[in-house]
Amino acid sequence: MIDLHAHIDLYPDPSSIARRCGELGIWVLSVTNTPSAWEQTAALGSGLPRIRTALGLHPQLARERKHELPIFRQMICKTKYVGEVGLDGAIECKPFWGDQVEVFTAILEVWSEVGGRVLSIHSRRAASEVLAILRRFPLAGVPVLHWFTGTHKELRDAIELGCWFSVGPAMLRSAKSMEQVAMMPMDRILTESDGPFGQQDGRPLHPWDVETTHSALAHIWRVTSEEVTAILRRNLSRLGASVTWAPPSGP
Ligand code: MN
Repeated sequence: MIDLHAHIDLYPDPSSIARRCGELGIWVLSVTNTPSAWEQTAALGSGLPRIRTALGLHPQLARERKHELPIFRQMICKTKYVGEVGLDGAIECKPFWGDQVEVFTAILEVWSEVGGRVLSIHSRRAASEVLAILRRFPLAGVPVLHWFTGTHKELRDAIELGCWFSVGPAMLRSAKSMEQVAMMPMDRILTESDGPFGQQDGRPLHPWDVETTHSALAHIWRVTSEEVTAILRRNLSRLGASVTWAPPSGP
Protein backbone atom coordinates (compact mmCIF):
# COMPACT_ATOMS: atom_id res chain seq x y z
CA MET A 1 0.00 0.00 0.00
CA ILE A 2 1.10 3.53 -0.74
CA ASP A 3 -0.09 6.70 0.98
CA LEU A 4 1.51 9.64 -0.76
CA HIS A 5 -0.12 12.28 1.41
CA ALA A 6 -0.85 11.78 5.10
CA HIS A 7 -0.55 14.11 8.07
CA ILE A 8 0.75 11.55 10.53
CA ASP A 9 1.74 14.27 13.00
CA LEU A 10 -1.85 15.48 13.29
CA TYR A 11 -3.48 12.27 14.56
CA PRO A 12 -4.14 12.16 18.29
CA ASP A 13 -1.49 9.44 18.71
CA PRO A 14 1.04 9.94 15.89
CA SER A 15 3.53 7.33 17.14
CA SER A 16 1.00 4.52 17.08
CA ILE A 17 -0.06 5.46 13.53
CA ALA A 18 3.56 5.45 12.37
CA ARG A 19 4.19 2.13 14.09
CA ARG A 20 1.10 0.55 12.52
CA CYS A 21 2.21 1.78 9.07
CA GLY A 22 5.55 0.12 9.73
CA GLU A 23 3.89 -3.15 10.72
CA LEU A 24 1.72 -3.11 7.61
CA GLY A 25 4.65 -2.17 5.36
CA ILE A 26 2.92 0.89 3.96
CA TRP A 27 4.91 3.47 1.99
CA VAL A 28 3.96 6.84 3.46
CA LEU A 29 4.80 10.36 2.45
CA SER A 30 4.30 12.09 5.77
CA VAL A 31 3.58 15.72 4.89
CA THR A 32 3.88 18.67 7.26
CA ASN A 33 2.01 21.97 7.37
CA THR A 34 4.81 24.10 8.81
CA PRO A 35 8.60 23.90 8.44
CA SER A 36 8.97 24.00 12.23
CA ALA A 37 7.02 20.73 12.47
CA TRP A 38 9.47 18.84 10.28
CA GLU A 39 12.06 17.64 12.81
CA GLN A 40 9.52 16.14 15.18
CA THR A 41 7.47 14.63 12.38
CA ALA A 42 10.57 13.11 10.77
CA ALA A 43 11.40 11.52 14.14
CA LEU A 44 8.09 9.59 13.96
CA GLY A 45 9.48 7.76 10.94
CA SER A 46 12.86 6.96 12.42
CA GLY A 47 13.64 3.26 12.02
CA LEU A 48 10.75 2.99 9.53
CA PRO A 49 12.40 3.26 6.10
CA ARG A 50 9.11 3.36 4.22
CA ILE A 51 8.02 6.56 5.92
CA ARG A 52 9.42 9.68 4.28
CA THR A 53 8.82 13.12 5.71
CA ALA A 54 8.11 16.12 3.50
CA LEU A 55 8.88 19.72 4.33
CA GLY A 56 5.82 21.91 3.89
CA LEU A 57 4.07 25.18 4.49
CA HIS A 58 0.35 24.78 3.96
CA PRO A 59 -1.28 27.56 1.91
CA GLN A 60 -3.95 28.01 4.58
CA LEU A 61 -1.15 28.97 7.00
CA ALA A 62 0.73 31.17 4.52
CA ARG A 63 0.14 34.44 6.32
CA GLU A 64 0.52 33.09 9.83
CA ARG A 65 3.73 31.13 9.14
CA LYS A 66 5.42 33.13 6.38
CA HIS A 67 8.13 33.99 8.89
CA GLU A 68 9.17 30.33 8.90
CA LEU A 69 10.28 30.46 5.26
CA PRO A 70 13.99 30.79 6.18
CA ILE A 71 13.75 27.32 7.75
CA PHE A 72 13.24 25.94 4.23
CA ARG A 73 16.74 27.09 3.34
CA GLN A 74 18.24 25.56 6.47
CA MET A 75 16.59 22.19 5.79
CA ILE A 76 17.44 22.08 2.12
CA CYS A 77 19.63 18.98 2.39
CA LYS A 78 17.44 17.08 4.81
CA THR A 79 14.70 15.80 2.55
CA LYS A 80 13.84 15.13 -1.05
CA TYR A 81 10.15 15.72 -0.40
CA VAL A 82 8.20 18.93 -0.25
CA GLY A 83 4.61 19.21 0.99
CA GLU A 84 2.11 20.24 1.79
CA VAL A 85 2.52 23.36 -0.33
CA GLY A 86 0.38 25.12 -2.92
CA LEU A 87 -2.49 27.58 -3.15
CA ASP A 88 -6.04 27.65 -1.80
CA GLY A 89 -8.60 29.78 -3.63
CA ALA A 90 -11.48 29.16 -1.21
CA ILE A 91 -13.30 32.26 -0.04
CA GLU A 92 -11.86 32.12 3.49
CA CYS A 93 -8.31 31.98 2.12
CA LYS A 94 -8.68 34.80 -0.40
CA PRO A 95 -7.84 37.58 2.10
CA PHE A 96 -4.23 36.36 2.21
CA TRP A 97 -3.90 35.27 -1.40
CA GLY A 98 -0.84 37.50 -1.80
CA ASP A 99 0.93 35.71 1.06
CA GLN A 100 0.07 32.35 -0.47
CA VAL A 101 1.58 33.28 -3.83
CA GLU A 102 4.66 34.70 -2.12
CA VAL A 103 5.22 31.58 -0.02
CA PHE A 104 4.58 29.07 -2.83
CA THR A 105 6.84 30.99 -5.21
CA ALA A 106 9.62 31.31 -2.63
CA ILE A 107 9.49 27.56 -1.93
CA LEU A 108 9.70 26.66 -5.62
CA GLU A 109 12.60 29.09 -6.01
CA VAL A 110 14.52 27.36 -3.22
CA TRP A 111 14.03 23.87 -4.69
CA SER A 112 14.83 25.04 -8.22
CA GLU A 113 18.29 26.03 -7.02
CA VAL A 114 19.13 22.66 -5.51
CA GLY A 115 17.46 20.29 -7.92
CA GLY A 116 14.13 18.64 -8.11
CA ARG A 117 12.13 17.13 -5.35
CA VAL A 118 8.79 15.37 -5.08
CA LEU A 119 6.24 18.10 -4.44
CA SER A 120 2.89 17.24 -2.86
CA ILE A 121 0.65 20.11 -3.90
CA HIS A 122 -2.65 21.50 -2.65
CA SER A 123 -4.67 23.23 -5.39
CA ARG A 124 -8.23 23.64 -4.07
CA ARG A 125 -10.05 26.21 -6.21
CA ALA A 126 -6.70 27.35 -7.52
CA ALA A 127 -5.56 24.71 -10.01
CA SER A 128 -4.96 27.18 -12.87
CA GLU A 129 -2.99 29.51 -10.62
CA VAL A 130 -0.91 26.60 -9.25
CA LEU A 131 -0.13 25.44 -12.79
CA ALA A 132 0.83 28.98 -13.87
CA ILE A 133 3.38 29.20 -11.04
CA LEU A 134 4.68 25.66 -11.63
CA ARG A 135 5.33 26.54 -15.27
CA ARG A 136 7.80 29.20 -14.10
CA PHE A 137 9.82 26.66 -12.10
CA PRO A 138 10.34 23.58 -14.27
CA LEU A 139 13.39 22.55 -12.21
CA ALA A 140 11.65 22.60 -8.82
CA GLY A 141 10.74 18.93 -9.00
CA VAL A 142 7.97 16.55 -9.91
CA PRO A 143 4.60 18.07 -8.99
CA VAL A 144 2.07 15.65 -7.54
CA LEU A 145 -1.35 17.28 -7.33
CA HIS A 146 -3.01 15.86 -4.25
CA TRP A 147 -6.83 15.52 -4.11
CA PHE A 148 -7.31 17.31 -7.44
CA THR A 149 -10.71 19.01 -7.69
CA GLY A 150 -10.21 21.34 -10.65
CA THR A 151 -12.08 21.42 -13.94
CA HIS A 152 -11.55 19.01 -16.82
CA LYS A 153 -9.68 21.76 -18.68
CA GLU A 154 -7.38 22.32 -15.70
CA LEU A 155 -6.81 18.58 -15.49
CA ARG A 156 -5.80 18.42 -19.16
CA ASP A 157 -3.40 21.34 -18.60
CA ALA A 158 -1.92 19.62 -15.53
CA ILE A 159 -1.40 16.39 -17.48
CA GLU A 160 0.29 18.32 -20.28
CA LEU A 161 2.58 19.98 -17.77
CA GLY A 162 3.71 16.56 -16.55
CA CYS A 163 1.93 16.56 -13.19
CA TRP A 164 1.31 13.39 -11.23
CA PHE A 165 -1.78 12.83 -9.09
CA SER A 166 -2.48 11.28 -5.70
CA VAL A 167 -6.06 10.09 -5.29
CA GLY A 168 -7.85 8.95 -2.17
CA PRO A 169 -11.01 7.27 -0.92
CA ALA A 170 -12.75 10.61 -0.31
CA MET A 171 -12.14 11.59 -3.93
CA LEU A 172 -13.34 8.35 -5.45
CA ARG A 173 -16.82 8.85 -4.01
CA SER A 174 -17.56 11.61 -6.51
CA ALA A 175 -18.70 10.82 -10.05
CA LYS A 176 -16.79 13.83 -11.44
CA SER A 177 -13.58 12.70 -9.75
CA MET A 178 -14.01 9.14 -11.00
CA GLU A 179 -14.31 10.53 -14.52
CA GLN A 180 -11.18 12.60 -13.97
CA VAL A 181 -9.18 9.72 -12.54
CA ALA A 182 -10.02 7.87 -15.75
CA MET A 183 -8.52 10.80 -17.70
CA MET A 184 -5.28 10.79 -15.67
CA PRO A 185 -2.36 8.83 -17.14
CA MET A 186 -2.30 5.45 -15.38
CA ASP A 187 1.47 5.73 -14.98
CA ARG A 188 1.24 9.00 -13.02
CA ILE A 189 -1.22 8.04 -10.28
CA LEU A 190 -0.55 7.15 -6.65
CA THR A 191 -2.90 6.70 -3.71
CA GLU A 192 -3.31 8.90 -0.63
CA SER A 193 -5.45 9.17 2.49
CA ASP A 194 -4.94 12.86 3.41
CA GLY A 195 -5.74 11.61 6.92
CA PRO A 196 -6.79 12.79 9.38
CA PHE A 197 -8.40 15.50 7.22
CA GLY A 198 -9.62 13.00 4.65
CA GLN A 199 -12.66 11.34 6.12
CA GLN A 200 -15.02 8.53 5.37
CA ASP A 201 -18.40 8.05 7.05
CA GLY A 202 -17.55 10.84 9.49
CA ARG A 203 -14.32 9.33 10.77
CA PRO A 204 -10.75 10.24 9.81
CA LEU A 205 -9.06 8.07 7.22
CA HIS A 206 -5.82 6.26 8.06
CA PRO A 207 -2.96 5.43 5.71
CA TRP A 208 -4.12 1.79 5.50
CA ASP A 209 -7.51 2.94 4.17
CA VAL A 210 -5.86 3.66 0.80
CA GLU A 211 -6.54 0.02 0.05
CA THR A 212 -10.20 0.91 -0.44
CA THR A 213 -9.21 2.88 -3.56
CA HIS A 214 -7.82 -0.23 -5.22
CA SER A 215 -11.18 -1.62 -6.29
CA ALA A 216 -12.20 1.73 -7.82
CA LEU A 217 -8.91 1.92 -9.70
CA ALA A 218 -9.31 -1.70 -10.84
CA HIS A 219 -12.74 -0.79 -12.18
CA ILE A 220 -11.50 2.34 -13.98
CA TRP A 221 -8.43 0.66 -15.44
CA ARG A 222 -10.20 -2.65 -16.16
CA VAL A 223 -7.50 -4.64 -14.41
CA THR A 224 -7.39 -6.91 -11.36
CA SER A 225 -6.62 -5.65 -7.84
CA GLU A 226 -3.25 -7.42 -8.04
CA GLU A 227 -2.46 -5.46 -11.18
CA VAL A 228 -3.46 -2.21 -9.44
CA THR A 229 -0.95 -2.98 -6.67
CA ALA A 230 1.76 -3.68 -9.25
CA ILE A 231 1.00 -0.51 -11.23
CA LEU A 232 1.10 1.67 -8.11
CA ARG A 233 4.35 0.08 -6.95
CA ARG A 234 5.91 0.70 -10.35
CA ASN A 235 4.72 4.31 -10.32
CA LEU A 236 6.24 4.87 -6.88
CA SER A 237 9.60 3.54 -8.05
CA ARG A 238 9.53 5.77 -11.11
CA LEU A 239 8.55 8.81 -9.08
CA GLY A 240 11.39 8.10 -6.69
CA ALA A 241 13.87 7.54 -9.51
CA SER A 242 12.86 10.79 -11.17
CA VAL A 243 14.20 12.71 -8.19
CA THR A 244 17.29 10.61 -7.72
CA TRP A 245 15.78 8.76 -4.80
CA ALA A 246 15.08 5.05 -5.00
CA PRO A 247 12.96 3.34 -2.37
CA PRO A 248 14.93 0.68 -0.51
CA SER A 249 14.22 -2.70 -2.07
CA GLY A 250 11.92 -5.10 -0.31
CA PRO A 251 8.56 -6.81 -0.64
MN1 MN B 1 -3.38 17.55 3.25
